[in-house]
Formats: sequence, structure tokens, C-alpha cells
Amino acid sequence: MFGRACRNLPLQAARPLQQFLNRSSLVNCCRPLHTRGRQVSGGPAFLCRPPFERQAFARNHHSRRHVQYSRSLATHAASASVAFANDHLEVLRVPCLTDNYSWVLLERASGKTAVVDPAEAQPVIAALDTRGVKLDAILNTHHHWDHVGGNEELKAKYGAEIVGPKADEARIPGIDVALAEGQTWKLGALEMHVFDTPGHTRGHITLWFPEAEVMFPGDTLFALGCGRLFEGTAPQMWQSLQKLLHIPPATRVCCGHEYTQSNAKFAAHFDPDNKALQARKASIDSLRKQGLPTVPSTFGEEVQTNPFLRPHDAVLRKRHAIRAAKDSF
Ligand SMILES: [Zn+2]
Repeated sequence: MFGRACRNLPLQAARPLQQFLNRSSLVNCCRPLHTRGRQVSGGPAFLCRPPFERQAFARNHHSRRHVQYSRSLATHAASASVAFANDHLEVLRVPCLTDNYSWVLLERASGKTAVVDPAEAQPVIAALDTRGVKLDAILNTHHHWDHVGGNEELKAKYGAEIVGPKADEARIPGIDVALAEGQTWKLGALEMHVFDTPGHTRGHITLWFPEAEVMFPGDTLFALGCGRLFEGTAPQMWQSLQKLLHIPPATRVCCGHEYTQSNAKFAAHFDPDNKALQARKASIDSLRKQGLPTVPSTFGEEVQTNPFLRPHDAVLRKRHAIRAAKDSF
């Protein structure tokens, strides 16, 4: 229901979100955003005090030096665990670096395996070893080093096929199969659908396995947030997010980072009348207090509570001039 309604949004409904995205670097970054030579003002104060790793990321996000530095500061290290499972697929959540998640997919019917966005090889190898399986495929959503860092080592060890975005194939290490909007690929019996979702980078794809009810949006969509506009524009990001709105609400959203708690602070400030958001924020705070992960969420939860998916919401639109809310935060 919600998907159909959102898909048919008039452009006017999307305008506040576009304005917000144009002006804000809220989306999980710490430094002023520069787009086409124009500096965009910084995000809310709490997001301007990120861990040092993210400052380093903003400066050196293509740099090996930062990979090593992040490892030295790693606070996120933990072994892989089952994120969810159904009759079609088991998905393991693999913490990497400081706040990345890679995802290991175990397809039930064929026994085929894949990993989405291996930030580094060793935690993925350890996860596969717990099941006594090898790796058949590596799926990359975009080129950033903290999503492709394990590609070459894993390919060398297992001979795995590397699948990534056609729009950015030159920047995906070891790529074998390049996919674009509307194309499909198969993991054993399961069909994967591809959306081009630029905005965070110019060649980002989102991966959706409808039968297994799971999506991998990389750094396009986060729990209660969306990705920083490194290489794209705000209108591009909104177009990308809109493409996802028809995905069924039960779908698990396996995003690329554990950013949910800081995202929740802004969302709660921005949308204070949203009871579902209040309940979700309390649950997130409790999970993080115990050092537990907050992802995957479901797409239905995101549509109810993620401000970046809700520019159509009448209460939200009435309550805010969105830019004013951000500017006075
Ligand atoms: Zn990224």
C-alpha cells in the first residue's frame, strides 16, 4: 500500500527532501560537503563530532593508509552472527573495520555462497570457515575501499566471481560481471534484481532478492538515514530512494554501516510526533547500550520512521520547513 502511494508522489511532495539533502551533510559524515565547487553547510552539531575515523575517511576514503589506521582503532570487532534466515537464504552479519557490515549469503537450495561488500577479507573468511564453506561470489554495491577492500584476497583464495555496478566497473577491483538498472543475476536458485541508485557515488547499485525478502542498499539507504553525497546530487539521491519505495515492507534492509543511533537522534528531533520512531529510538538506544547491532531493519520500519523516505508524510510536511529545522538544530 505505502509503496504504491509513494511511487505516485507529485514532485512537489519531494521538494522539501530535496532541499534538505541539498543543504545537509547530515548523512553520516562530519565535514562540509563540497558539490561542484560549492560548499554546503554542515549537518547538526551532534553529527559534526564523529569518531576520528570518519574524519579520516572524508579526507582519505580511497587510501590504504586509512584502512590500516581504522584497523588500529577498531571498536567494532566481533565475530559473525546470523542476521536472519528463511527457507531460501541464511544471512550472516560480519562486522568489519570500525563500523562496517559485510553480509555472507548462504543460499539453501544450491549451497551457493556470496558476500556483499567485503570491507576486508579475514572476517569474511572466518565467517565462511564457521560453516565449512567456500565463497562463490562477491557482490559490490559501490567502489569505496570499505566495501571492496577484501575483493582481491577473497577472489585469489576462492576464485569467486565479482559482481558490481556497470556504471563504475573501472573502479571495482577484479570485477567479472557488471550490472545495471533492471538486470538480474542468480545466486543458486535465487534471483537478484539490480537498481541503479547513484547519489552517494555515481555508480552505486542496490541489490534486492525478492523471494528471500532481503535488500542490500550499500551506502544508499541506512537505518534511519541515507548516504552522504560524495559524488552525486540531492535530486539523484531522491530519485534513487524513490525507486526503492515499492519494495515490500517485510524486506530486510542490510545496509553497509552501524550508524543507526546517531541517525535516530536527528530523526527524533526532526519528527518528534512520530510514535513509531520514538519506540524504535528507545529500542536502538537499548541495543547499542548492550553493544548489539541495530541492523537489519525492515523496509516497513524505514518507511514509517526514516525521514529520508517520508517527504510525502502530511504531518511531517505540515510541521516543518525542513531547512529551518536543520538550520536551528
Ligand atoms: Zn561508501
